Amino acid sequence: MIDLHSHTNESDGSCSPEQLIAEAVRAGVDRLGITDHDTFAGYDRARDAAARAGVELVCGIELSTRLHDHSVHVLGYFLGSGGLGAFRDWVLELQASRRERNQRLAIRLRELGFDVTVEEAEARGRGITGRPHFAQIMVEKGYVSNLRQAFDEYLDESAKGYVYRREPSFAEGVRHIRDAGGFASLAHPIRVAGDVSKMMPELCAAGLNAIEAYHSDHGPGETEIYLGLAKRYGLLVTGGSDFHGAMKPEVSLGTGYKGNLRVPEDVWERMRASVNA
Ligand code: AMP
Ligand code: ZN
Ligand code: FE
Ligand code: FE
Repeated sequence: MIDLHSHTNESDGSCSPEQLIAEAVRAGVDRLGITDHDTFAGYDRARDAAARAGVELVCGIELSTRLHDHSVHVLGYFLGSGGLGAFRDWVLELQASRRERNQRLAIRLRELGFDVTVEEAEARGRGITGRPHFAQIMVEKGYVSNLRQAFDEYLDESAKGYVYRREPSFAEGVRHIRDAGGFASLAHPIRVAGDVSKMMPELCAAGLNAIEAYHSDHGPGETEIYLGLAKRYGLLVTGGSDFHGAMKPEVSLGTGYKGNLRVPEDVWERMRASVNA
């Protein structure tokens, strides 16, 4: 089984890289993409365990970018053998902007009356700290009853605790991925604000290579729509569960939400062929 979208506890997943590989083996995933937010640390740490377990790993990353005043997630996949030196340096800059955002987010949450500090949140994400860690603290302290409510009322882009984060533009994110020899896929297009089909010319002009047609948030109809867009615009297709472990317990590695995901074999073959082409 193939799963090209997963998170470790180096970002906002709950599994250590070793636990994620064990979960892949248990679930029957033999080709796995690790796509932590703004860090390669999970992938780096998973490599030995993956080799021992016979799981083929794809080096990936998930970037938050800005497009028309909304956040759009872009997956970068690096299949070549090239070093990622300059790209890794750039990723460190993204981590710095995230830390700066986290400080303002903690201040904002305290203004709203919650006892939440940036130190507490940072104690959770090993490599990077994200809003889900703040949400977790708010649940544990009883301010909200679950992560969903934390986002809906306080942390979502449209909610009252949201604070701006300096993010690269969509085109800049794609350009950095491609300059590093990677290919860029539009993550979970269902979550993009606006009509993706109308945005396609612009996304392609920015250099987008692929679209994540298969994702645990997509129903069959949506997957069909995104497969159609990939075909029409000559893009590769990627797919994955967006597994976060206990941070999103309803989503399973490889099979998504209640078994709604199955990434076809040809996704893997076409992706590999594109690199060798
Ligand atoms: P951050 O990268 O710190 O801004 O946090 C973004 C992460 O929070 C995303 O990758 C999702 O996992 C999660 N997230 C963002 N918006 C929501 C939402 N409305 N509901 C639940 N989780 C969300
Ligand atoms: Zn995440
Ligand atoms: Fe995402
Ligand atoms: Fe993700």
